[in-house]
This record gives sequence, structure tokens and C-alpha cells, in this order.
Amino acid sequence: KAKAQGNGSFQFFEPEMCVAAKRRLQLEAALHRALDHGQFEVHYQPRVSLGTMGTLGVEALLRWDHPEFGRVAPLEFIPLAEERGHIGTIGQWVLGAACRDVKRINDRFGMALHVSVNVSARQLRSPDLVAQVQQALAGSGLPAAALELELTESALIEDLDQSAEVLRGLKSLGVRLSIDDFGTGYSSLSYLKRFPIDVLKLDRSFVAESPAGDGFVRAVIGMAHALNLSVVAEGIETTGTMAALRDAACDEGQGYLFARPMPLEELEAFLADEETRSGNALEQESAR
Ligand code: C2E
Ligand code: MG
Ligand code: MG
Ligand code: MG
Repeated sequence: KAKAQGNGSFQFFEPEMCVAAKRRLQLEAALHRALDHGQFEVHYQPRVSLGTMGTLGVEALLRWDHPEFGRVAPLEFIPLAEERGHIGTIGQWVLGAACRDVKRINDRFGMALHVSVNVSARQLRSPDLVAQVQQALAGSGLPAAALELELTESALIEDLDQSAEVLRGLKSLGVRLSIDDFGTGYSSLSYLKRFPIDVLKLDRSFVAESPAGDGFVRAVIGMAHALNLSVVAEGIETTGTMAALRDAACDEGQGYLFARPMPLEELEAFLADEETRSGNALEQESAR
């Protein structure tokens, strides 16, 4: 695998590089057909109030199961879909499915859950985004206030003026906007003055690296509240972390401690179970 060069040195071609390049090409080709072949499914992860411990909403997380490659992680295929120009079509499909599914749940359980959908940088650059969101809402009957769009800081600062315009368009529909993965990038908060953001989602790494009662976490939560933002902590895995965040006045949590992302049917079972448990708690309360 080494090729002699003119100056007598050798250039090595790493076999792993070939494997990675080959997989990439195969995934690219497969991704192109994934939607038509019904290989995508939206899973949902509950977002829980740290005050009442009840489920307030869910985040839609896309899953891709390929007959040959198996489950491909979003962190691998989403960037690929962005690069290859598929994210617009895929993103629109996710929006439609998420709005429909949560509308159905709310009708069935008499709940008012909200659903958060991740929006990538490229989608934010697209002039169609506002119309796509409007279409997903109209097509499902989900109230705009029940839809939240998760944007990353890096996507927003790519083009501040264009982002501001798209965000204004989205806000005029009545949807909520959140900053995802806060604490991983610049995390300047200065753009919060510029953009109509409602929710700050603290990244899992930020949550995990900050020991219980960390002053930094408290400061960020305090600042977010002062700016009228509600705060969600991502990736809560232990009761210790949950308690510390609750002490720090964090509003909501999301993480394996509460529930993993799951298919719609499992989410319905999870919610039915939660309803039974809170019903029992109320009965016990009134029996005392
Ligand atoms: P994200 O939006 O920050 O989503 C949270 C990620 O953390 C999810 O990974 C979720 O499964 C994971 N997670 C939740 N709780 C825990 C926990 O307690 N411990 C650990 N270790 N992980 C936890 P997932 O589903 O693999 O998605 C990864 C990323 O892919 C998402 O990060 C999001 O940026 C992107 N993504 C997923 N679905 C979509 C989509 O439909 N559209 C776009 N544009 N991006 C998506
Ligand atoms: Mg997200
Ligand atoms: Mg996140
Ligand atoms: Mg993340």
C-alpha cells in the first residue's frame, strides 16, 4: 500500500481511509433512496418538567434503518444529507410526521404536548422553510404554539441577517424557537437580543461537565431567565444531575434518566403509563 515518490519517500494510503471513503459513497447512494424506500422513522424523546416531573413535550429524532448497513446514526447521515442537498426533502418529511404524530397523541390523550423538530443550517438558508412549516401545521392541524424548532448557534451565525429574517417569518407563524446544543460553540448569548428565541437547550457535555450546583450553570440559567427564556437540560442520566439542575432553577430536562428516544407506539404506552401513575398519585393524595 506504499508508493515510492520521486524524492525517495513513501506515501502511505491508510486502509481505514479507503474503508471510510467507501462507506461514505455507499451511504450517499443509499440516502438518496431512503425516503422512498420507507427506511426513515421518527422517534420521540420526552421532555420533562423538573418541577412536576410530568412530560411537557417531545423531541423528534430521525432514525434511519438500512437493510444492509443497519441503524445509521444521525450524526453520520445528517451532515451527509446536508452536503448532498437532501436535507430539505428529509426535513420536510420529519416536520410533517412530527406534527401529525403529536396531533394524534394530543387528541387521543387529551394532552397539549409540544414537539420540537431539529432544523439544520442548510434548511435555515432555504427560502422554503417558512412555507414548509406552515404546510406541516396546516396539514396536521397541530396548533403553531405546539411546534418548536431547534436551531444551533453555528447555523444562526453563518448569516446573521438572513437568519434574523427567516426567524421573524417563523415567529410570525406562532411557533417557538430554541437554541440547541448551547455551551458547545460560541455561546455568546449576545445574538439572543437579535433573535426571537424562546428556549435555551443546554448541551449534554455542558450538563455533564458541570458538577452539581456549578456556579457557571446557575449563571447561564439566571441569565436565560432574565431574558425570558425557558431552559432545558439535555442528556440527564443521573438523579444527582437532575437534582442539581432543579436546584439551579432549570425548567425542563431531557435524557436517558427519564426516557430514551422511542417509536410512536412506545411513546403512547409511556404516556398511558404516566397517566395511570399520576392518576394513582392523585387517588392516594385524596384518600389521605
Ligand atoms: P440533538 O438535537 O442535540 O439531540 C439530542 C441527542 O442526544 C439525540 O441523539 C439523543 O438521542 C441524545 N440523548 C438524549 N438523551 C441522552 C442521554 O441521556 N445520554 C446520551 N448519551 N445521549 C442522549 P441522536 O438521536 O443520535 O441525534 C443526534 C443529533 O442528530 C441531534 O442532536 C440532531 O442534531 C441531529 N438530528 C436528529 N434528528 C434530526 C432531524 O430530523 N433533522 C436534523 N436536521 N437533525 C437531526
Ligand atoms: Mg435537538
Ligand atoms: Mg442538542
Ligand atoms: Mg447535542
